[in-house]
Amino acid sequence: MMVRFKDSTADELHAALAPRGISLRLARRLQAAVLRRDAFPRSLPEVSEKTLAWVRENAGLPKLVQKGKAVSARDGFAKYLFQGEGPEPFEAVRIPLLHRAGEEKVVACLSSQVGCGLGCAFCATGRMGLVRNLSAWEMVDQVIRLAADSEHPVRGAVFMGMGEPMLNYEAVVRAARILNEPCGLAISAEAISISTAGIVPGIRRFTADRLPFRLVVSLTSADPFRRRGVMPLERTHPLPELMEALREYHKASGQRVILAWTMISGFNTREEDAIQLAALVRGLPVRLDLIDVNDAAGRFKPPSPPELAAFRDALRKHLKMPVARRYSGGRDIHAACGMLAGSLPGPSRRESRSPAS
Ligand code: SF4
Repeated sequence: MMVRFKDSTADELHAALAPRGISLRLARRLQAAVLRRDAFPRSLPEVSEKTLAWVRENAGLPKLVQKGKAVSARDGFAKYLFQGEGPEPFEAVRIPLLHRAGEEKVVACLSSQVGCGLGCAFCATGRMGLVRNLSAWEMVDQVIRLAADSEHPVRGAVFMGMGEPMLNYEAVVRAARILNEPCGLAISAEAISISTAGIVPGIRRFTADRLPFRLVVSLTSADPFRRRGVMPLERTHPLPELMEALREYHKASGQRVILAWTMISGFNTREEDAIQLAALVRGLPVRLDLIDVNDAAGRFKPPSPPELAAFRDALRKHLKMPVARRYSGGRDIHAACGMLAGSLPGPSRRESRSPAS
Protein backbone atom coordinates (compact mmCIF):
# COMPACT_ATOMS: atom_id res chain seq x y z
CA MET A 1 0.00 0.00 0.00
CA MET A 2 1.33 3.45 -0.93
CA VAL A 3 1.76 5.68 2.15
CA ARG A 4 0.84 9.28 1.33
CA PHE A 5 2.39 11.73 3.74
CA LYS A 6 0.46 14.87 2.78
CA ASP A 7 -2.78 12.88 2.77
CA SER A 8 -2.48 11.22 6.18
CA THR A 9 -2.86 12.38 9.76
CA ALA A 10 -0.24 11.10 12.20
CA ASP A 11 -2.61 8.33 13.38
CA GLU A 12 -3.25 7.23 9.79
CA LEU A 13 0.44 7.29 9.07
CA HIS A 14 1.12 5.25 12.17
CA ALA A 15 -1.48 2.66 11.14
CA ALA A 16 0.29 2.32 7.78
CA LEU A 17 3.78 2.14 9.29
CA ALA A 18 3.05 0.05 12.40
CA PRO A 19 3.66 -3.25 10.52
CA ARG A 20 7.23 -1.95 9.93
CA GLY A 21 7.68 -1.64 13.72
CA ILE A 22 7.27 2.17 13.71
CA SER A 23 5.74 3.54 16.92
CA LEU A 24 3.31 6.47 16.95
CA ARG A 25 6.08 8.68 18.33
CA LEU A 26 8.40 7.81 15.45
CA ALA A 27 5.59 8.10 12.89
CA ARG A 28 5.06 11.65 14.16
CA ARG A 29 8.76 12.41 13.94
CA LEU A 30 8.87 11.07 10.40
CA GLN A 31 5.77 13.08 9.43
CA ALA A 32 7.33 16.28 10.79
CA ALA A 33 10.65 15.64 9.03
CA VAL A 34 9.02 14.92 5.67
CA LEU A 35 6.52 17.82 5.72
CA ARG A 36 9.04 20.43 6.91
CA ARG A 37 11.63 19.41 4.30
CA ASP A 38 9.05 18.50 1.65
CA ALA A 39 11.39 15.59 0.96
CA PHE A 40 12.28 12.25 2.51
CA PRO A 41 15.12 12.49 5.03
CA ARG A 42 18.27 10.46 4.42
CA SER A 43 18.70 9.90 8.15
CA LEU A 44 16.59 10.39 11.23
CA PRO A 45 17.44 9.63 14.88
CA GLU A 46 15.95 6.29 16.06
CA VAL A 47 14.72 5.33 12.58
CA SER A 48 16.85 2.71 10.85
CA GLU A 49 18.27 3.29 7.41
CA LYS A 50 16.42 0.18 6.24
CA THR A 51 13.09 1.66 7.33
CA LEU A 52 13.88 5.01 5.70
CA ALA A 53 14.78 3.23 2.49
CA TRP A 54 11.45 1.35 2.65
CA VAL A 55 9.61 4.67 3.21
CA ARG A 56 11.34 6.26 0.22
CA GLU A 57 10.28 3.36 -1.97
CA ASN A 58 6.74 2.94 -0.68
CA ALA A 59 5.60 6.45 0.24
CA GLY A 60 4.24 9.11 -2.04
CA LEU A 61 5.12 12.80 -1.73
CA PRO A 62 3.17 14.43 -4.56
CA LYS A 63 3.59 18.14 -5.30
CA LEU A 64 1.35 20.63 -6.99
CA VAL A 65 2.60 22.17 -10.19
CA GLN A 66 2.69 25.96 -10.02
CA LYS A 67 1.27 27.25 -13.29
CA GLY A 68 1.58 30.93 -12.45
CA LYS A 69 1.66 33.62 -9.81
CA ALA A 70 0.51 37.22 -9.62
CA VAL A 71 1.36 39.70 -6.88
CA SER A 72 -0.79 42.73 -6.15
CA ALA A 73 1.10 45.99 -6.54
CA ARG A 74 -1.45 47.58 -4.17
CA ASP A 75 -1.35 45.39 -1.08
CA GLY A 76 1.07 42.50 -1.56
CA PHE A 77 -1.62 39.80 -1.80
CA ALA A 78 -0.33 37.00 -4.05
CA LYS A 79 -2.40 34.64 -6.13
CA TYR A 80 -1.02 31.25 -7.15
CA LEU A 81 -2.36 29.06 -9.89
CA PHE A 82 -1.80 25.35 -9.28
CA GLN A 83 -2.42 22.10 -11.04
CA GLY A 84 -2.84 18.90 -9.05
CA GLU A 85 -4.27 15.49 -9.91
CA GLY A 86 -6.34 16.78 -12.79
CA PRO A 87 -5.67 19.13 -15.71
CA GLU A 88 -7.83 22.00 -14.41
CA PRO A 89 -6.07 24.83 -12.56
CA PHE A 90 -7.15 26.16 -9.16
CA GLU A 91 -5.98 28.99 -6.96
CA ALA A 92 -4.62 29.79 -3.53
CA VAL A 93 -4.03 33.27 -2.15
CA ARG A 94 -1.25 34.39 0.15
CA ILE A 95 -2.50 37.10 2.50
CA PRO A 96 0.15 39.22 4.20
CA LEU A 97 -0.60 40.19 7.80
CA LEU A 98 0.98 43.44 8.82
CA HIS A 99 2.76 43.19 12.12
CA ARG A 100 5.77 44.88 13.64
CA ALA A 101 9.00 44.47 11.69
CA GLY A 102 10.37 41.01 12.32
CA GLU A 103 6.97 39.58 13.24
CA GLU A 104 5.29 39.55 9.84
CA LYS A 105 3.30 36.46 8.91
CA VAL A 106 0.99 35.27 6.20
CA VAL A 107 -2.34 33.46 5.98
CA ALA A 108 -3.11 30.98 3.22
CA CYS A 109 -6.54 31.14 1.59
CA LEU A 110 -7.11 27.63 0.22
CA SER A 111 -9.32 26.10 -2.42
CA SER A 112 -11.19 22.94 -1.47
CA GLN A 113 -12.77 22.25 -4.87
CA VAL A 114 -12.08 23.23 -8.46
CA GLY A 115 -15.03 25.48 -9.23
CA CYS A 116 -18.18 25.31 -7.11
CA GLY A 117 -21.66 23.96 -7.70
CA LEU A 118 -23.51 26.39 -5.42
CA GLY A 119 -23.73 29.24 -7.90
CA CYS A 120 -23.75 32.30 -5.60
CA ALA A 121 -24.55 35.18 -7.95
CA PHE A 122 -21.74 37.43 -6.70
CA CYS A 123 -18.97 34.84 -7.09
CA ALA A 124 -16.83 34.09 -10.14
CA THR A 125 -16.09 30.56 -8.86
CA GLY A 126 -19.82 29.89 -8.69
CA ARG A 127 -20.15 30.77 -12.36
CA MET A 128 -17.71 27.97 -13.24
CA GLY A 129 -19.85 25.20 -11.81
CA LEU A 130 -18.24 22.30 -9.97
CA VAL A 131 -15.33 20.61 -11.73
CA ARG A 132 -14.08 18.31 -8.96
CA ASN A 133 -13.20 17.93 -5.30
CA LEU A 134 -9.59 18.44 -4.27
CA SER A 135 -7.83 15.74 -2.23
CA ALA A 136 -6.45 16.49 1.21
CA TRP A 137 -2.87 16.49 -0.10
CA GLU A 138 -3.81 19.09 -2.74
CA MET A 139 -4.98 21.39 0.08
CA VAL A 140 -2.02 20.68 2.39
CA ASP A 141 0.39 21.27 -0.48
CA GLN A 142 -1.15 24.67 -1.23
CA VAL A 143 0.19 25.73 2.19
CA ILE A 144 3.55 24.03 1.69
CA ARG A 145 4.03 25.72 -1.71
CA LEU A 146 3.01 29.14 -0.36
CA ALA A 147 5.32 28.70 2.64
CA ALA A 148 8.23 27.72 0.36
CA ASP A 149 7.69 30.90 -1.66
CA SER A 150 7.24 33.23 1.33
CA GLU A 151 9.66 35.31 3.26
CA HIS A 152 7.38 35.08 6.31
CA PRO A 153 5.87 32.00 7.99
CA VAL A 154 2.32 30.79 7.28
CA ARG A 155 0.47 31.16 10.57
CA GLY A 156 -3.12 30.71 9.44
CA ALA A 157 -5.23 28.91 6.84
CA VAL A 158 -8.75 29.74 5.70
CA PHE A 159 -10.78 27.40 3.52
CA MET A 160 -12.35 30.30 1.65
CA GLY A 161 -10.91 29.94 -1.82
CA MET A 162 -12.63 28.05 -4.60
CA GLY A 163 -15.36 25.64 -3.55
CA GLU A 164 -17.74 24.79 -0.73
CA PRO A 165 -15.65 23.02 1.95
CA MET A 166 -18.62 21.24 3.54
CA LEU A 167 -19.30 19.45 0.25
CA ASN A 168 -15.79 17.97 0.42
CA TYR A 169 -15.99 17.42 4.16
CA GLU A 170 -13.72 14.44 4.72
CA ALA A 171 -10.80 15.73 2.65
CA VAL A 172 -11.11 19.26 4.10
CA VAL A 173 -11.16 18.02 7.69
CA ARG A 174 -8.25 15.66 7.06
CA ALA A 175 -6.28 18.55 5.51
CA ALA A 176 -7.16 20.84 8.44
CA ARG A 177 -5.98 18.19 10.91
CA ILE A 178 -2.66 17.76 9.06
CA LEU A 179 -2.19 21.55 8.98
CA ASN A 180 -2.90 21.69 12.71
CA GLU A 181 -0.96 18.71 14.07
CA PRO A 182 2.32 19.60 15.79
CA CYS A 183 3.99 17.00 13.58
CA GLY A 184 2.16 18.41 10.56
CA LEU A 185 2.41 22.10 9.75
CA ALA A 186 1.66 23.16 13.36
CA ILE A 187 -0.84 25.93 12.52
CA SER A 188 -2.96 26.60 15.59
CA ALA A 189 -6.57 25.40 15.41
CA GLU A 190 -7.93 28.90 16.12
CA ALA A 191 -6.06 30.14 13.06
CA ILE A 192 -7.75 27.59 10.77
CA SER A 193 -11.19 28.62 9.48
CA ILE A 194 -13.60 26.45 7.55
CA SER A 195 -16.29 28.40 5.78
CA THR A 196 -19.63 27.36 4.39
CA ALA A 197 -22.42 28.99 2.46
CA GLY A 198 -24.79 27.11 4.79
CA ILE A 199 -24.62 23.36 4.10
CA VAL A 200 -26.63 22.22 7.13
CA PRO A 201 -25.58 18.52 7.19
CA GLY A 202 -21.93 19.65 7.06
CA ILE A 203 -22.45 22.07 9.97
CA ARG A 204 -24.12 19.29 11.99
CA ARG A 205 -21.23 16.94 11.24
CA PHE A 206 -18.72 19.66 12.17
CA THR A 207 -20.59 20.05 15.50
CA ALA A 208 -20.80 16.28 16.14
CA ASP A 209 -17.09 15.84 15.35
CA ARG A 210 -16.26 18.54 17.92
CA LEU A 211 -13.66 20.05 15.64
CA PRO A 212 -11.48 22.78 17.15
CA PHE A 213 -11.37 24.88 13.96
CA ARG A 214 -13.32 28.09 13.41
CA LEU A 215 -16.61 27.86 11.57
CA VAL A 216 -17.56 30.77 9.30
CA VAL A 217 -21.00 30.91 7.71
CA SER A 218 -21.76 33.12 4.74
CA LEU A 219 -25.15 34.65 5.52
CA THR A 220 -25.29 37.81 3.35
CA SER A 221 -28.98 38.39 3.95
CA ALA A 222 -31.41 37.59 6.77
CA ASP A 223 -34.31 37.91 4.36
CA PRO A 224 -35.05 34.50 2.77
CA PHE A 225 -36.35 36.05 -0.47
CA ARG A 226 -33.31 38.27 -0.94
CA ARG A 227 -30.92 35.50 0.11
CA ARG A 228 -32.49 33.11 -2.36
CA GLY A 229 -31.93 35.71 -5.08
CA VAL A 230 -28.14 35.61 -4.70
CA MET A 231 -27.53 32.29 -2.93
CA PRO A 232 -29.53 29.48 -4.53
CA LEU A 233 -28.55 27.24 -1.59
CA GLU A 234 -31.26 29.03 0.41
CA ARG A 235 -33.79 26.83 -1.44
CA THR A 236 -32.12 23.63 -0.20
CA HIS A 237 -31.21 24.74 3.33
CA PRO A 238 -33.48 27.65 4.24
CA LEU A 239 -32.59 30.14 6.97
CA PRO A 240 -34.69 28.57 9.77
CA GLU A 241 -32.93 25.21 9.27
CA LEU A 242 -29.53 26.92 9.05
CA MET A 243 -30.13 28.90 12.24
CA GLU A 244 -31.23 25.78 14.09
CA ALA A 245 -27.96 24.07 13.11
CA LEU A 246 -25.98 27.14 14.22
CA ARG A 247 -27.77 27.25 17.57
CA GLU A 248 -26.91 23.55 18.05
CA TYR A 249 -23.29 24.31 17.15
CA HIS A 250 -23.10 27.12 19.67
CA LYS A 251 -24.73 25.01 22.39
CA ALA A 252 -22.29 22.12 21.83
CA SER A 253 -19.11 24.17 21.33
CA GLY A 254 -19.75 27.35 23.31
CA GLN A 255 -18.25 29.20 20.33
CA ARG A 256 -19.52 32.50 18.99
CA VAL A 257 -20.79 31.98 15.45
CA ILE A 258 -18.92 33.96 12.80
CA LEU A 259 -21.23 35.19 10.05
CA ALA A 260 -19.84 36.60 6.81
CA TRP A 261 -21.85 39.30 5.07
CA THR A 262 -20.92 40.11 1.47
CA MET A 263 -22.03 43.73 1.21
CA ILE A 264 -23.87 44.65 -1.98
CA SER A 265 -24.88 48.26 -2.43
CA GLY A 266 -28.62 48.85 -2.18
CA PHE A 267 -29.30 45.18 -1.53
CA ASN A 268 -28.27 44.16 1.98
CA THR A 269 -26.92 47.32 3.62
CA ARG A 270 -30.18 49.04 4.59
CA GLU A 271 -31.38 49.61 8.17
CA GLU A 272 -34.06 47.03 7.50
CA ASP A 273 -31.32 44.44 6.83
CA ALA A 274 -29.78 45.15 10.23
CA ILE A 275 -33.20 44.83 11.89
CA GLN A 276 -33.90 41.51 10.15
CA LEU A 277 -30.46 40.19 11.07
CA ALA A 278 -30.91 41.14 14.73
CA ALA A 279 -34.25 39.30 14.80
CA LEU A 280 -32.79 36.23 13.09
CA VAL A 281 -29.88 35.76 15.52
CA ARG A 282 -31.67 36.85 18.71
CA GLY A 283 -30.12 35.01 21.67
CA LEU A 284 -27.24 33.59 19.61
CA PRO A 285 -23.80 35.17 20.11
CA VAL A 286 -22.43 36.05 16.69
CA ARG A 287 -19.67 38.13 15.16
CA LEU A 288 -20.45 39.72 11.84
CA ASP A 289 -17.67 40.00 9.26
CA LEU A 290 -18.45 42.61 6.61
CA ILE A 291 -16.80 42.00 3.23
CA ASP A 292 -17.12 44.19 0.15
CA VAL A 293 -18.54 42.39 -2.86
CA ASN A 294 -15.99 41.96 -5.64
CA ASP A 295 -17.73 41.43 -8.91
CA ALA A 296 -15.43 41.62 -11.90
CA ALA A 297 -18.52 41.40 -14.12
CA GLY A 298 -19.72 44.71 -12.62
CA ARG A 299 -23.26 43.60 -11.75
CA PHE A 300 -22.86 44.12 -7.99
CA LYS A 301 -21.22 47.12 -6.36
CA PRO A 302 -19.89 47.50 -2.80
CA PRO A 303 -21.53 50.17 -0.61
CA SER A 304 -20.28 53.75 -0.84
CA PRO A 305 -18.54 55.12 2.31
CA PRO A 306 -21.73 56.93 3.52
CA GLU A 307 -23.84 53.80 2.87
CA LEU A 308 -21.37 51.67 4.80
CA ALA A 309 -21.27 54.14 7.70
CA ALA A 310 -25.09 54.16 7.89
CA PHE A 311 -25.19 50.34 7.84
CA ARG A 312 -22.62 50.13 10.63
CA ASP A 313 -24.68 52.59 12.67
CA ALA A 314 -27.77 50.46 12.10
CA LEU A 315 -25.89 47.31 13.18
CA ARG A 316 -24.68 49.09 16.32
CA LYS A 317 -28.24 50.13 17.11
CA HIS A 318 -30.05 46.88 16.34
CA LEU A 319 -27.61 43.95 16.34
CA LYS A 320 -25.46 45.05 19.30
CA MET A 321 -22.86 42.35 18.64
CA PRO A 322 -19.25 42.55 17.41
CA VAL A 323 -18.92 43.67 13.80
CA ALA A 324 -15.62 43.62 11.89
CA ARG A 325 -14.87 44.87 8.43
CA ARG A 326 -12.70 42.35 6.62
CA TYR A 327 -10.28 43.64 4.05
CA SER A 328 -10.50 41.56 0.92
CA GLY A 329 -7.32 42.36 -0.96
CA GLY A 330 -5.72 41.57 -4.27
CA ARG A 331 -8.55 43.04 -6.36
CA ASP A 332 -6.12 44.14 -9.06
CA ILE A 333 -5.00 40.53 -9.59
CA HIS A 334 -8.50 39.05 -9.14
CA ALA A 335 -7.50 37.44 -5.86
CA ALA A 336 -10.17 39.02 -3.66
CA CYS A 337 -13.17 37.14 -2.22
CA GLY A 338 -15.48 36.02 -4.99
CA MET A 339 -12.97 36.59 -7.80
CA LEU A 340 -11.24 33.20 -8.11
CA ALA A 341 -11.91 31.54 -11.44
CA GLY A 342 -8.87 29.42 -12.23
CA SER A 343 -6.98 32.09 -14.16
CA LEU A 344 -4.57 34.99 -13.80
CA PRO A 345 -5.13 38.57 -14.96
CA GLY A 346 -3.11 40.37 -17.67
CA PRO A 347 0.47 39.34 -18.50
CA SER A 348 2.06 42.50 -17.01
CA ARG A 349 1.69 41.25 -13.46
CA ARG A 350 2.36 37.58 -14.04
CA GLU A 351 5.29 35.51 -12.91
CA SER A 352 5.37 32.09 -14.45
CA ARG A 353 7.39 29.29 -13.07
CA SER A 354 8.35 25.89 -14.28
CA PRO A 355 6.62 22.93 -12.69
CA ALA A 356 7.61 22.08 -9.14
CA SER A 357 9.72 18.97 -9.00
S1 SF4 B 1 -19.27 32.08 -2.63
FE1 SF4 B 1 -18.39 30.10 -2.01
S2 SF4 B 1 -20.17 28.73 -1.98
FE2 SF4 B 1 -20.80 30.52 -3.18
S3 SF4 B 1 -20.35 29.96 -5.31
FE3 SF4 B 1 -18.53 31.05 -4.50
S4 SF4 B 1 -17.18 29.42 -3.80
FE4 SF4 B 1 -19.23 28.53 -4.01
